Amino acid sequence: MSRIFAGNWKMHLGPEEARAFLKSFLARYRRVTGREVWLFPPAVSLETVARETRDRAEIIVGTQNVHWDDKGAFTGELSVPMAKEAGARAALVGHSERRHVFGETEDDTAKKVRALLRHQVKAVLCVGEMIDQREAGQTVAVIERQLGALAGLDANALADITIAYEPVWAIGTGRNATPADAAQVHRAIRAWFVARGVAARNLTVLYGGSVKPDNIAALLAEPEIDGVLVGGASIDAGAWLEIVNSR
Ligand code: PEP
Repeated sequence: MSRIFAGNWKMHLGPEEARAFLKSFLARYRRVTGREVWLFPPAVSLETVARETRDRAEIIVGTQNVHWDDKGAFTGELSVPMAKEAGARAALVGHSERRHVFGETEDDTAKKVRALLRHQVKAVLCVGEMIDQREAGQTVAVIERQLGALAGLDANALADITIAYEPVWAIGTGRNATPADAAQVHRAIRAWFVARGVAARNLTVLYGGSVKPDNIAALLAEPEIDGVLVGGASIDAGAWLEIVNSR
């Protein structure tokens, strides 16, 4: 299974900046077997990023958010078919900023996952606990509740979902879980899927939260960690190249 390096650009890099970023990154980036690079630009830059990377089969472009309906009176929203038409082959769902800043509920997350499956767009379901939940020993219970968004899906559908474990207290803070702490949660996530008929080897679990060039090697040395989802360091072409080239 490929190692995945996913970059969540958040609300950074409009089309012009995206083009400049890719020019710098792609000039120095070399394809390596067994490695995929997934880029999640803001919606307005999807087409640009898809166009600039169209000759690079191992680079997958995704959107940061979708609505669950295909069309309708939902001002400001983006449907899965629209994102797909603009070049998205993947989408983040349930990112902690969607949950905690924009009030996205478990039910919203569940509907988004189903819309993505319906349209064969890869769903990257983000899960993670807040610091008080970790300190109260509730990490696994919180993650399992968030995985409830996948309830009722059969093993085939479940095997298509990529999970990103992103402890909320580690996102954009410079603090990250130790590789051993992350691996422990990754094991619990894998166990949840295995109990529902998915072979552990068919599952991809990424780690996210202040991943940087100086901690990537230690994280990837942990066999439970199949790749990373990176925010801040993914919009700096130099840092991103170092992260991606760590494998
Ligand atoms: C993220 O937004 O998914 C993320 C992990 O951010 P950062 O790498 O900046 O902590």
